Amino acid sequence: MKNFLCSLLDWIYKKKCYCCSSSREAVPLCSHCYNELEFNPPQVARILNGTDVYIAGMYEKNLQKIIRGLKYHKKRDLAYYQAKFMYEYFQTLDIRETFQVVPVPLHKKRQKQRHYNHMELVAEEFCKLTGFQPNFKLIKRIKHTKPQYKLTKKERLENLENAFEVDTTNLLPYPILLIDDICTSGATFESMINELHKNGINNIKCFATTSPHS
Ligand SMILES: [Zn+2]
Repeated sequence: MKNFLCSLLDWIYKKKCYCCSSSREAVPLCSHCYNELEFNPPQVARILNGTDVYIAGMYEKNLQKIIRGLKYHKKRDLAYYQAKFMYEYFQTLDIRETFQVVPVPLHKKRQKQRHYNHMELVAEEFCKLTGFQPNFKLIKRIKHTKPQYKLTKKERLENLENAFEVDTTNLLPYPILLIDDICTSGATFESMINELHKNGINNIKCFATTSPHS
């Protein structure tokens, strides 16, 4: 009944594909636009502080649009598609462990401005698909940092120094999968890895949706 009502409402309000706005499918992202997303080859994209980093897909316009829509334009429905894309890529890797999935946390001020942490939404959907455990309490962002995009790699690292705090009482008995949307310099992952290492936690992998440099 609920599904029927949702479909009816979608039909009445003519929900359109966020990327092409022209598909007849009443879905947030049509199958044509989804199928245009391009996966990266199944391999480690780079290594940060001894930690493997995987990058799911090419930095191209549809994927950027999905990421921005979810992050800045309150298109929460897109979290499922971003997670599905990451899940499909993850399945091509030769990794068989069960993880606790830790999205990059937002500082509480920024989370208040945006009303939600977009990567928590992606982590939830990703965990539904993989059966992994989400963990939003292990790492907290304690420093309200400046936006990173205009900074050099060195400035990014300084900006993020001591930005995170690990609460080991919330550690689950699984290796950690840190997830983010865009991995640019890798400074965010690096800072989180450093903080985990300081707390004696070393079984970590990183996974980003995309990167302008891959
Ligand atoms: Zn479309």
